[in-house]
Amino acid sequence: MNIIKNSLIEDGFPIVEISNVRKSYVLGSLEIPVFSNVNLKIERGELLAIMGLSGSGKSTLVNLIGCLDKSTERHILVRSCDLNRVSDQELARLRGLEIGFVFQTFNLVPRLTALENILLPPFANLRINIDPKRSARELLKIMGLYNRMHHSPRELSGGQSQRVSIARTLVNDPAVLLADEPTGNLDSRTGVEILRIFMDLNNEERTVVIITHDPEIAKYANRVVLVRDGIIQYN
Ligand code: ADP
Ligand code: MG
Repeated sequence: MNIIKNSLIEDGFPIVEISNVRKSYVLGSLEIPVFSNVNLKIERGELLAIMGLSGSGKSTLVNLIGCLDKSTERHILVRSCDLNRVSDQELARLRGLEIGFVFQTFNLVPRLTALENILLPPFANLRINIDPKRSARELLKIMGLYNRMHHSPRELSGGQSQRVSIARTLVNDPAVLLADEPTGNLDSRTGVEILRIFMDLNNEERTVVIITHDPEIAKYANRVVLVRDGIIQYN
């Protein structure tokens, strides 16, 4: 499935390194602490499952790893780049090229076709040497959706929508895929099909992080960590 070769060769460092990170949300005068001191290293090629109860901070963690949010204190490195030291513009570029997000609710743009949805990331940030239209069509073929490319999301099933959203993450050939409850809106058979796609991608040495509260899904991971009471517990 790795039709596009990532241009940056990894250098032996963890792909993500979170050390002593504190994160709280501020609502008016109220501070809501989520993490007081969180540490996590994700190596290239891992299939990591992050588990935890609802409200434990899984999405917060994934948003930090995915450069959607900044930590309140201390450093997060993605590909050895310190997210707290780069400009917002550099952060957006890093996010656009190196991180692929998959969401529980697919987050496809309803007015665009499947093909147009997949072409959105390269429209914002294009990795050089990529022909986005060719790649998007190739990815639709791989996902078994070539004959659906001109369909809108409302004409697709949940499983098909999730496959379009995975294709959308792959078009820029990211270093890391972050999937926040990717099977949460799917029946269990479709959920397993989606999981198989992540496993195939991981077998091609792509780093995959799956947030889930489903132990059935987590058992396919090479490593499971548990978020609980503001810390990460290692099994
Ligand atoms: P999970 O994904 O494990 O369900 P979240 O990371 O969404 O957990 O939430 C962790 C905690 O942070 C919860 O107490 C939640 O209410 C709070 N929280 C999450 N996002 C925000 C936000 N944008 N503003 C304020 N509080 C938030
Ligand atoms: Mg969540």
